[in-house]
Amino acid sequence: MTSWRDRVERDMVHAFGPSQGLLVRGEGAYVEDVEGKRYLDFLAGIAVNVLGHAHPVLADAIAQQAKTLIHVSNFFSTPPQLELAARLKRLTGAGETGRVFFANSGTEANEGAFKLARLNRGEDGRRTRVLSMKNSFHGRTMGALALTGKPAMHTDFEPLPGGVEYIDTTIEALEEAFDETVAAVILEPIKGEAGVLEVPDAFLQRARALTSKTGALLMIDEIQTGVGRTGGWFGYQRSGIVPDVVTVAKGIAGGVPMGAVVTLGAASELIHPGQHGTTFGGNPLATATANAVLGEIETAGLVENAARRGDELVSMIAGWKHPLVTGVRGRGLLLGISLGAPVAKKLHGEALERGLIVNAPNDETIRLAPPLIIGEAELSDFEARFTAALSAVSH
Ligand SMILES: *Cc1c(COP(=O)(O)O)cnc(C)c1O
Repeated sequence: MTSWRDRVERDMVHAFGPSQGLLVRGEGAYVEDVEGKRYLDFLAGIAVNVLGHAHPVLADAIAQQAKTLIHVSNFFSTPPQLELAARLKRLTGAGETGRVFFANSGTEANEGAFKLARLNRGEDGRRTRVLSMKNSFHGRTMGALALTGKPAMHTDFEPLPGGVEYIDTTIEALEEAFDETVAAVILEPIKGEAGVLEVPDAFLQRARALTSKTGALLMIDEIQTGVGRTGGWFGYQRSGIVPDVVTVAKGIAGGVPMGAVVTLGAASELIHPGQHGTTFGGNPLATATANAVLGEIETAGLVENAARRGDELVSMIAGWKHPLVTGVRGRGLLLGISLGAPVAKKLHGEALERGLIVNAPNDETIRLAPPLIIGEAELSDFEARFTAALSAVSH
């Protein structure tokens, strides 16, 4: 009989590295593989499974909506879609001037944002440049890839859509590059893929001040940081700014594919009929699921839980005083453990062996993005498994 690993090798496109396991079910913060081995999931499908696995509220919402109405064309509207649009306007602080475009993934949400930048040329048409941050990540499709500040990811796919410039995430670099020819500035409040690097509040505030003055769009990619993960509903909110465009995906529907672009103020008036669209975007199955997920985050106090458990994790990790651990970055339940040596890949492997799923965005960082539902029991289980993995790497 052909093993599942051989079938992966034979039948799947080789876009990802070797598969780490054949997972068959999950419950809460745990998943189980085909051999019955249980893993504590401290990655949550990369910041996706905000309610953990097989959450009854999520499962029931999907089942109920599947029995009611799964999909209609965007020639029509549906109640779950309108409910979700109103909810996103409230949670982002968009208020009366907000509007929502629904997509199906993070990269597609950022494609929408990119189009808004192109539509924001200004009356004389001179706003043509888009500023993005070096080392940023915005997705894999051509437009979102062009927005991504990692030149090594571009080379195989050039030519990419033009007009994007990559700057250091410093106020000096921003002021140097910024003028009235800029159509938009896009950034992540915490660069997750780059190793959980926080962007200072002062930088966001300066970006807001500059863009407000000229009419450039401030576009915040909240795909990884949004829906409660950082201990606030959205990462930008801590800095007190209100952006023009917010892109959301990953956790928004708890694992059902979904993305959204929220526009605020004048940005809400840029798109006209015929300029953008998508078949599945905002269908009742995805939007009803997102309503259930966001509703559960609110009623169960999971934003507050993310803040509290994040603080507890940071103190716990500091308390180990392990020589290999040189610091913890990030906020809430999006954390990067920095290592004093390039052993993140090895540590990730040792953790997996001990039934703990984390990930290594680079050689010196372990990223944690557990479900927002975790409590004391999951924290102690994480401590036991991770410190065991640390010892294995140190010896
Ligand atoms: C994951 C991610 C994306 C891309 O989302 P996909 O759903 O994988 O297309 C874009 N931006 C950020 C910050 C992300 O973390």
